[in-house]
Amino acid sequence: MAELLKGKPVADAMKEELIKKVDGLKSKGITPKLGIIRVGQRPDDLFYEGGAKKTCSALGMDSEVFEYPENIEQAAFEKAVIEVGQKKDVNGILMFSPLPKHLNEKKIRTLIPVEKDVDCLTVGGAAKVFTDDPTGFPPCTPTACMDMLHHYNIPIKGKKCVVVGRSLVVGKPLAMLLLREHGTVTICHSRTENLPGVCQDAEILIAAVGKAKMIKGNFVKPGQIVIDVGINADPDNPGKYCGDVDFAEVEPIVQKISPVPAGVGSVTTWVLCKQTIMACEMQNS
Ligand code: NDP
Repeated sequence: MAELLKGKPVADAMKEELIKKVDGLKSKGITPKLGIIRVGQRPDDLFYEGGAKKTCSALGMDSEVFEYPENIEQAAFEKAVIEVGQKKDVNGILMFSPLPKHLNEKKIRTLIPVEKDVDCLTVGGAAKVFTDDPTGFPPCTPTACMDMLHHYNIPIKGKKCVVVGRSLVVGKPLAMLLLREHGTVTICHSRTENLPGVCQDAEILIAAVGKAKMIKGNFVKPGQIVIDVGINADPDNPGKYCGDVDFAEVEPIVQKISPVPAGVGSVTTWVLCKQTIMACEMQNS
């Protein structure tokens, strides 16, 4: 049986450390604050927003939701985002994406100040991540994967790391973070040939595909570490969700595996708060 890499112990350890940082800032009269920009009321956004607000309050941080109607016009929304960005008390900004189709999201993202871009929505933020600039904030999910690997003392240096998925939200920045720590990184995607063979060659395999249970038993081998980033509706259990890894097939084979639910997803809102606190510290240094 594989060791389960659960998210909660990672979040708990982070919580302790972050509370100390928030207390330190508060003793100087500064309370870190996360600003959440939401257009419309998508259930997934509301769910994540609820988690983020709860995490902020558990740490003694402030949060504020800036909510706009689904049919807001481009000019009005641009003005609103600029105003949120200019608020002195807002240290970090999360904007739910994708925005409704009538909005020019590419342009709107440029209006978020890079120093408040705690989920890597801007090109400037991504540039910092891709150039190893420590003042840049990678997206929360890849950072959560790295925090999982660190917490469970999984060595990365020199290891063969295979990332399945090349999105700007997960796959690509995750590959950069692994590379930063001297992993030997392979990025796979929908055109990769012999995907099971490439995955089998990994020492650390990270699945960020968005396809329920796609990583099967023949993609893995004994001794591997598997991190499952996927959040998908479970085709076999209506109303439940599952990862990109077929847990039933893979878990008996590999050495360690993060479950879904209760894995990476339990760490992401803590990372969002961690990065907002870091932004607050930098803005006040
Ligand atoms: P995207 O759909 O943006 O990207 C998926 C990637 O997987 C693409 O690069 C795609 O390749 C690749 N892919 C798709 N099908 C295959 C295939 N058959 N073989 C190999 N590669 C394939 O997804 P995201 O990166 O946004 O998300 C990935 C997963 O992570 C999803 O399940 C999502 O729900 C989850 N997620 C979890 C979060 C968390 O906090 N735990 C947060 C964000 C996302 P190509 O580029 O060639 O199309």
